[in-house]
Amino acid sequence: MQTSGPSAARQPLPEVNMKFKRATLERAEKFISDIYFTDVNLRGQLYPDTQPVEEIHHYGSSGRYLSPAQATGGRGEVKVGDSFGPTWATHWFRVTAEVPERFAGQQVRLRWNTGCEAMVYSTENEPLQGLTELGGQERTDFILSRSAVAGQRYVFHIEMACNPIMGAGHAGMINPPDPNRTFTLAQCELAVYDPDCAALYYDLELLVAMASKMDDKWPRSYQALYTANEIVNACRVGDRDSYKRCHEIARQFFNQHNGDSQLTIASMANCHIDCAWLWTYEETVRKCARSFASTLRLMEDYPELNFACSQAQQYEWVKVHYPGLYDRMKTAVADGRFISVGGSWVEMDANMPGSEALARQFLVGQRFFKQEFGQYCQVFWLPDTFGYSSQLPQLMTSAGMKYFLTQKISWNLINKFPHHSFKWQGLDGTQVITHFPPANTYGCEVTIDEVLNTVTNLEDKGRVSESLMLYGYGDGGGGPTEGMLERMQRLKDCDGLPRIRPSTPMDFFSKLESTSASSLCTWVGEMYLELHNATYTTQAEIKKANRVGEFLLRDAETVSAFASLLKLADYPHTELLRIWKLFLLNQFHDILPGTSIEAAHDLAKDYYKDVHKSAKQMFVTGLDALLTSSTGQPSTEAAAGAGTDSSSVLTAALVNPFSWQREEVCSVPAGVQVPDGCSVQRNAGDDGSVLALVQVPSLGVACGKTIFSASQASTAVVEAVEESVGAYRLSNKHLHVTIDRHGQLTSLIVNKTGREALPEGQTGNRLVMFDDIPLFWDAWDVMPYHLETRRVLDNATELRVTETGPLRVSVQYKVQISERSHLVQTISLCSNEEFVRFHTRVDWHENRQFLKVEFPVDVSSTEATYETQFGHTRRPTHSNTSWDVAKFELCGHKWCDYSEYGFGMAVMTDCKYGYCAKDKLIRISLLRSPKAPDGNSDMGCHEFSYAVFPHQGSFQDAGVIRQSYNFNHPLSIMARASSSPQAAVPGGYLSDGHYGMRAQCVYRRAS
Ligand SMILES: [Zn+2]
Repeated sequence: MQTSGPSAARQPLPEVNMKFKRATLERAEKFISDIYFTDVNLRGQLYPDTQPVEEIHHYGSSGRYLSPAQATGGRGEVKVGDSFGPTWATHWFRVTAEVPERFAGQQVRLRWNTGCEAMVYSTENEPLQGLTELGGQERTDFILSRSAVAGQRYVFHIEMACNPIMGAGHAGMINPPDPNRTFTLAQCELAVYDPDCAALYYDLELLVAMASKMDDKWPRSYQALYTANEIVNACRVGDRDSYKRCHEIARQFFNQHNGDSQLTIASMANCHIDCAWLWTYEETVRKCARSFASTLRLMEDYPELNFACSQAQQYEWVKVHYPGLYDRMKTAVADGRFISVGGSWVEMDANMPGSEALARQFLVGQRFFKQEFGQYCQVFWLPDTFGYSSQLPQLMTSAGMKYFLTQKISWNLINKFPHHSFKWQGLDGTQVITHFPPANTYGCEVTIDEVLNTVTNLEDKGRVSESLMLYGYGDGGGGPTEGMLERMQRLKDCDGLPRIRPSTPMDFFSKLESTSASSLCTWVGEMYLELHNATYTTQAEIKKANRVGEFLLRDAETVSAFASLLKLADYPHTELLRIWKLFLLNQFHDILPGTSIEAAHDLAKDYYKDVHKSAKQMFVTGLDALLTSSTGQPSTEAAAGAGTDSSSVLTAALVNPFSWQREEVCSVPAGVQVPDGCSVQRNAGDDGSVLALVQVPSLGVACGKTIFSASQASTAVVEAVEESVGAYRLSNKHLHVTIDRHGQLTSLIVNKTGREALPEGQTGNRLVMFDDIPLFWDAWDVMPYHLETRRVLDNATELRVTETGPLRVSVQYKVQISERSHLVQTISLCSNEEFVRFHTRVDWHENRQFLKVEFPVDVSSTEATYETQFGHTRRPTHSNTSWDVAKFELCGHKWCDYSEYGFGMAVMTDCKYGYCAKDKLIRISLLRSPKAPDGNSDMGCHEFSYAVFPHQGSFQDAGVIRQSYNFNHPLSIMARASSSPQAAVPGGYLSDGHYGMRAQCVYRRAS
């Protein structure tokens, strides 16, 4: 071994130094390998001496965020090699160690590795640092002393979380978790760490990478190679003086500087932590603590480390569960090193949240940052979401942020996004300066590849002089590490590579704006991600809970605001904020898209139940407050069935939360009397309720008999006629609809003009199935080739009339989808409505099948329109270019419209988000059946409705927007016991000036 013998300098023979690049390079690689020749190479000397700890005491296991004192089932003294589990369990240990004599004066570290996440705590239970295997040798060390004192004793608590940092997928990262994993305590020891050896190790690591990754047309890669070779020749393993001499050789190389024209990389640390994904929210709380504590500790040694941190929710989690750590974070925030970015409550999905919810992400988030840290975030930060709504520039600017950082668009399947630094122009014309880090990741490790990619990938060379590199392990947390910072120090200004300067988000963007704003290109409209488009459909129950919840929150705020404004009730600020936070959390970019594990979805569904229940309760409380005011008599909710007793007359009360008048066929609870002369229709079932036509003014509370108008009786007629065997025609004053025995529409005529909406010979409401096997990302992706596997479900049975008018007619049929799944659908037409309803129940037990419904439409237009937040997005109906081809599965909210001048057809849904209008066909995506990461995704019963709305004129003039709100949130009559209540807010409070304008919400600002 080289350490033996005299330490005379080596004198290589010149003829030996041949031009064998491969051998020279591989020799240097092996010299720092942690696999090969570690008994004689440099890497093997990083920890030249080790000593077992004195004792590892197992306290037992506990739940999350508890202390060792609350652990049970302890095994007492345990040893390296023992195993602990199962998956998701928490185990607590006390580690006691004493520094041996021979370690004196050296850097000594505690090394701990269980192959899963862990955190070291003080004995007072303050979190100190995460201990997590991050794929390499990093973050399994905890520095005890840089100059150890012999005999010094250390005692720590260690919390072991039985989950690897990227979840516990069974035989594959995104597979459903294996619940029975155990984790072995592979390492727990004191070790001497040799900083001189480490310094040389990082030098060589970079030299080897430069030699292998840099373009060998240029001399720099050879200079790196020969410098590495020189070092390997000169290095005497185990001899620290030789490390220092070799480090000096490396320093000379790294200090050869660039010319003035070289591009600069602005670097900053970050840690993308998914609020839930391959783990639940509960584990994320701890991921935050581990990542943030580790980062703060690293800041002590690396003054250039600045850390950008988003998601107010994650700050709040730490505040609640780790107050000591949160105080340290606050100090680092005040020092300008822990930098709050994003301004939103969580890094949300940016496709599906409704208008108000998307605005609240910013409102609730920015308020938190202001309240906690005295300032709003200035940079909107959303690196990892599955497409970017065209409404974001206006909203982020309104929330005080004119700069935007993101990254995911680099995942596009077909087309490469043409800019990295650019102006993004939103729906209303607002422009924000936007940057995508060109390394195409937010989790850089500061490798030569990433540094080179940050330059070579940059699409704006010449226009800008800087691009951004985000380093730090992410997704499952982790953050920056020692190795990343060591590499960055060496690459500050090294000839042949871009300069790297530590920066902050604001520093980078303000410089970009001041130096390059005038030369940046502009991207107008949405940034559609050409991947993960199945996320508009996966986890139908989550999507439905989201849509329903948005309306329930609106109801609760509307009545609570009026009741408090009129001093009839206190405004429930605290409770509303509580449920808004849960609701916004569930719009996180792996929950609303449905791309998490089953346990994460189950918890999200519990949160939705909580939100819905509380919002409904607030609504009832507010409504009752508004109804009692005029008489002074309480107007309480009627008990179910109270109206069956003829002595108790109940009164109808209802709220119209929308800023337009409405007329709807409504279910009237038993006991509420509909005045004589009004049309009524017996409801199916035996609860005594009836259908009646109800008319209410815009925004406000309506009650009593005035909502039923006798004058409507003559116009309120709808009928169902059997046209041929098993085929029916439904008609009212607006539409004629013919339905064949398969439940498909054979004709759809707008009465006013007599125009047929369906193309000749084609049917509407065709249920279709597709094989839905993506390339990898099961819950996320539907690939374009699925369209080649289309099968029409035309085996309907039992088409029969179930309602006969005069207010609503319905036919119902059943389709056996497969041996495992079936569907029952009720097609209805109401007397006053311009659209046909399709209420659908599906018992769904498929494997990688996709259910959609199709409506062909006889119009000619190059664009179709899809609802988005506070507006709509137009997208091509053809496949002219590769950008058009990529748009085969698209996000829309409540409606999608395919119109030509003067005529068109809209479809509306009450809980769906996936659409495609192309080639004279509108498709709605209904249900999927992926198996990873949630093995039971979407299995079971589903209930949803969609509607088809053929119309004259544009969709705006035809009222598609309003009707889509009405369709989603029908008027609901509540029975009230008071005999003659009056509403304190009798409607008409706020009314739209024009169809295109609407009041989005009514709520009371926090004081
Ligand atoms: Zn993410």
